[in-house]
Amino acid sequence: PARATLIDGKAFAAGLVERVAAASARLEAKHRIKPGLAVVIVGEDPASQIYVRNKGETTQRAGMRSDTHRLPDETDQETLLALIAALNADKGIHGILVQLPLPGHIDASAVLGAIDPDKDVDGFHVVNAGRLAVGLPGLVPCTPLGCLMLLKAELGELSGLNAVIVGRSNIVGKPMAQLLLGESCTVTIAHSRTRDLPALCRTADILVAAVGRAEMIRGDWIKPGATVIDVGINRVPSRDPMKAAQGKTRVVGDVAFEEAAAAAGRITPVPGGVGPMTIACLLANTYTAACRSAGVEPDA
Ligand code: NDP
Repeated sequence: PARATLIDGKAFAAGLVERVAAASARLEAKHRIKPGLAVVIVGEDPASQIYVRNKGETTQRAGMRSDTHRLPDETDQETLLALIAALNADKGIHGILVQLPLPGHIDASAVLGAIDPDKDVDGFHVVNAGRLAVGLPGLVPCTPLGCLMLLKAELGELSGLNAVIVGRSNIVGKPMAQLLLGESCTVTIAHSRTRDLPALCRTADILVAAVGRAEMIRGDWIKPGATVIDVGINRVPSRDPMKAAQGKTRVVGDVAFEEAAAAAGRITPVPGGVGPMTIACLLANTYTAACRSAGVEPDA
C-alpha cells in the first residue's frame, strides 16, 4: 500500500533552532541585545522538571541567556507574583515562562495574567489570545505555531483547504484554529461532544489531533492523501510484555500511526514530530520578543 511521507519535525526544529541562534547572534552583535528567557517552576513534578531542563539547555545552546527559577512546592502565590513582577521589570529578560501545572493552592490564571504580555512567550495571556483572534501581532502559543510552520513547509499555500482540529484547549486546539483561519483554511473544531467524529475527520485535507487519547484516530478516518499532524503525547505500556510488566512505557500519539500512514499523504511521527517544534518555537518567540523590545524587525 502507498505510505505517507514522514514529516520530520525533529530535523525541522533543529534547523529552526540554528536560524534563531544565528539571528540572535546578529541581534547581539548589532544592537547589544542578548535574548533572555526566564523559566519558573514551582514544585517537583518529574515531567515538568525534565521539560524545564530541556528548555534551559536548548536556550543556552542557541547562545541565549537562560535563567531557571526553581521554587519549592509550598511557595505562596504572593511570592510567585513578586518574582514575576521582578522579571517583568528586568530589561535583560525578554521571555517569561511559568511551567504548568502549578500546585493546587496557586491560581494559575492569576499568575499567567500577571506576566507582561510582551514577555509572554508561551502566548497564554488573554491579551495574546485576543491579539491572535483579531489578527494583531502578538506572541502565539508554541505548539500550534510549530504545527503551522510544519504545514507551511510541507504544503506551501494553505488557502481554501479543509482543516479539522480535534481538541479545543486554550493552549493547542483554539490557537491552532485561529492560525489556520488566518491562513484562509476552512476550519472545523471537534471536541468530546462532536457527533460522528470519523465522518468529520474524513472531510479534512489537514487533520490536527490534540486530544490526549492514545491512538484514538484510526486509519479509516483519514481522507486519502490528507496531511496529519499528531500533537498527542501519551504514555502506554511497552510492547514487550516483560518490559510492560516492569512498568516500562512508550510514547504514542493521538493517531493510530501505522493505519493512518497507509492512508495519509503526509504525517508527523510521535515522537519526533510536533514535540521538538514546541521548544524551537519557544526560542523563536523569545527572539521575537527581544527584537520587539528594541524596535528591531525579527529576521530568523
Ligand atoms: P486537553 O486535555 O486540554 O484538551 C483535550 C481536548 O480533546 C478537549 O477539547 C476535549 O474535548 C477533546 N477530547 C477529549 N476526548 C475526546 C474524544 N473522545 N473525542 C473528541 N475530542 C475529545 O489537552 P491539550 O490540548 O493540552 O493536549 C492535547 C494532547 O497534546 C495531549 O496528549 C498533550 O500531552 C499533547 N501536547 C503536546 C504538546 C507538544 O509539545 N507536542 C504540547 C501540549 C500538549 P472537551 O473540550 O469537550 O473536553
